[in-house]
Amino acid sequence: MRALVTRFAPSPTGRLHLGHAYSAILAHDAARDAGGQFLLRIEDIDPGRSRAAFVDGIIEDLLWLGLQPDGEIVYQSERLPFYAAALDRLKAEGLVYPCFCTRSAIAAEVAASASAPHGPDGPHYPGICRRLSPDARAARMAVEPHSWRLDVGQAASRAGPFSWHDEHAGEVAADPACFGDVVLARKDAPVSYHLAVTVDDADQGVTHVIRGRDLFAATHVHRLLQALLGLPVPLYRHHGLLIDAEGRRLAKRHGAPTIADLRAGGADPAALAAALRMGQMPGGYSLAST
Ligand code: GLU
Repeated sequence: MRALVTRFAPSPTGRLHLGHAYSAILAHDAARDAGGQFLLRIEDIDPGRSRAAFVDGIIEDLLWLGLQPDGEIVYQSERLPFYAAALDRLKAEGLVYPCFCTRSAIAAEVAASASAPHGPDGPHYPGICRRLSPDARAARMAVEPHSWRLDVGQAASRAGPFSWHDEHAGEVAADPACFGDVVLARKDAPVSYHLAVTVDDADQGVTHVIRGRDLFAATHVHRLLQALLGLPVPLYRHHGLLIDAEGRRLAKRHGAPTIADLRAGGADPAALAAALRMGQMPGGYSLAST
């Protein structure tokens, strides 16, 4: 049996809050309990929103909480060639297509359609560029910025039916088309979350993906990409999310304190980590039941 490997994979777009700390503790403890490894991966592929100062802050917060990662810290910004290779494979199989649409063109098309399918993130991409002829595509690629979208209909029929396992939900029948034709490489960044996270979890030998329930549906897409790219399938655990007294998810705009704020306020890290481990959230926060 492979040793258990978990990871914490924050995007350095802000400081960690209690929800992140809870997620990191679950991943850390699962690894420690099994004598496995707890990896830290910095998901800094968004050039507009990632900040080096937040990376330093995240590492500081984890160490303050007693969560020492194993091995080297992996930075997605240093792994772009691996994502490009995965994308090239999907291009060679004709499973992705260039998309030239602007947000407003997509919104207009969706508004004009009587029955645009919707997914967890809103309306699906209406397929405008999927229908371009090979000649139109080639001509526009030479001069127009474009993203790359997965042709999810083709990809799902290529992969056939499959499932994945969640430690809370049990065996989950995959619904890979739930987001429609997702973007795998953005106009402004050479890769998207879905592709980078799937390639990295495989390359880092992650056996257990422990993350918040907000990413449950994304796993359908990740599982599809694993099938297309011949990658191993980890076990998943999507844990409950922290909510405030009004039932809202933790967010800076709702005044949720960061770990740095709690530290500056004199919190005891061992007591804070122990409370999170027992599911006792400080400050009027609680774990959502669904
Ligand atoms: N980077 C993602 C986030 O901060 C999490 C990715 C994952 O755990 O798969 O929301």
